[in-house]
Amino acid sequence: MNYPFTNPPLPYAYDALEPYIDTLTMHLHHDRHLQTYIDNLNAALKNYPAYHSWTLEDLLTNIASLPSSVQLTVARNAGGAYNHIFYFYNLTLPHLSYPTGALIDAIKRQYGSFADFKQQFTDAALSVFGSGYAWLVLDASGHLQIIPLANQDTPLPLRLTPLLNIDVWEHAYYLKHYNLRKDYIADWFQVVHWANANRIYEEFISFL
Ligand code: MN
Repeated sequence: MNYPFTNPPLPYAYDALEPYIDTLTMHLHHDRHLQTYIDNLNAALKNYPAYHSWTLEDLLTNIASLPSSVQLTVARNAGGAYNHIFYFYNLTLPHLSYPTGALIDAIKRQYGSFADFKQQFTDAALSVFGSGYAWLVLDASGHLQIIPLANQDTPLPLRLTPLLNIDVWEHAYYLKHYNLRKDYIADWFQVVHWANANRIYEEFISFL
């Protein structure tokens, strides 16, 4: 996907993540929050045709190549688009959300148990002060890392490969969970698209 960027539809119904993530939040989050990042990114790139063939990944990993006057706007809005698309596509229906494949074996090896991993990931998501995300990523050697990132920063400039992210901006959970981010994190774990994360993991390690 490149300029003009469009908002990909959710790969499931707006109410598909109930009761863990509510329908109204999904409408507002996808149709308004994500749409705004996409609109702002298109506006920022409108007069720079040299970058119209660049994907979100191209923009985010080469932000220093852009004219300095648009770097911050593009970084924020391409980040907002990338992070949200990644978030929505790594959620699934509750009955399809179960750990699977080589990724879960790697998680157990590295964190001791799936419960220990969940605790560390939850702690990272709780540690984000204000707005941001917690990420499960792979470094270049295929080692798993859990990292909190602020605002719409992405792991891409850090040369890390994302497997999962949780949006902990308040708009992701406030309507249902109010200020209780910990409850939202627990509910998010009920709708994680583990098969998707595992597909990225297995593809990555097959090239190591
Ligand atoms: Mn969001």
